[in-house]
Amino acid sequence: MKIVTVLGARPQFIKAATVSRALREIQVTEVIIHTGQHFDRNMSEVFFKEMAIPRPDYNLEISGLSHGAMTGRMLEEIESVLLKEKPDSVLVYGDTNSTLAGALAAAKLHIPIAHVEAGLRSFEMKMPEEINRILTDRISRYLFCPTTTAVDNLKREGFDAFECEISQPGDVMYDAVLYYKAQVPKKSTILESLEVKDQPFSLATIHRAENTDNLERLGAICEALNQINQQSKVILPLHPRTRAILDKNNIRLDFTPIEPVGYFDMLALLDGCNLVLTDSGGLQKEAYFFSKYCITLRDQTEWVELVEAGVNTITGTDMALITQAAAKGMGKTVTTSAQLYGDGRASQLIAEKLSKI
Ligand code: UDP
Repeated sequence: MKIVTVLGARPQFIKAATVSRALREIQVTEVIIHTGQHFDRNMSEVFFKEMAIPRPDYNLEISGLSHGAMTGRMLEEIESVLLKEKPDSVLVYGDTNSTLAGALAAAKLHIPIAHVEAGLRSFEMKMPEEINRILTDRISRYLFCPTTTAVDNLKREGFDAFECEISQPGDVMYDAVLYYKAQVPKKSTILESLEVKDQPFSLATIHRAENTDNLERLGAICEALNQINQQSKVILPLHPRTRAILDKNNIRLDFTPIEPVGYFDMLALLDGCNLVLTDSGGLQKEAYFFSKYCITLRDQTEWVELVEAGVNTITGTDMALITQAAAKGMGKTVTTSAQLYGDGRASQLIAEKLSKI
């Protein structure tokens, strides 16, 4: 039994960590390809190290290209690895160009594809992630959905009639939080070094193309963060792409953003903050796992159950909406009794299924 896993970007390293661990526990051979989509130390290496993900067997070092060039080069390189390794299945995560390239390379070689985080939809076809996830789902054999909404999306799109198996093991990001959070006190000192151990602060991230590639939207988010920062400090671990765009266009923040942080530091920040503002997918759920109110700086979300539960609000980039939502959500402890993201055993269920393919 051999699985080839294709990883490339930060959220995929985090999603893969507990699945990879579960595969090792049942002695399934996993060969890891790192496409190189994210390569900086604090966007890639730190996660492999901290989360004890095995070193990639193949480093393709493909980054910094346009969507077409990047996906095309990945496709070519992944195909040659698959021809050499001859795996029983190919495992892909989420919705990046690496996900699509891995799935496409496998599909053309008739290797069954397992897609973790299947069925998510924003219904915004301009998002590169939406294109990647719809196409990956369509050619995957094993569709591992994190939520009931994701299963419903696939059913509505007619997936019951396709040659695939839909299941709902839960969300592997929940597994990761449960597994790693006990180690945070020993492994992170970020609250002390940022001097916020007993101070209220908001945690923000901005990286989604619809915000960074639109200066009006990006400017409005920064202005809202500046306003919130006057009441309570904002901590913004800044994605390198966002930083480059802010610098190039002279968009001003009244506070100093920090470099992207590793997973343990992120968990410490989530635990210590009193509000999350983000355009990230993963962080919206993590805010909920830490009982923090989340303001989603987008016009829609794939994680609609959080909005329905009243723990997440979609503000887009409207400054007034953001600051009003911040006033409402700051310091609020949010909980729901529902197990929206499974019971923390998603990785184990996925690994068991993969071992039987
Ligand atoms: N994350 C991190 N350090 C950071 C920013 C994000 O560890 O400086 C983690 C975050 O906690 C979440 C994941 O990266 O687990 C989300 O990745 P990202 O926001 O890049 O992608 P998305 O979830 O939007 O696909």
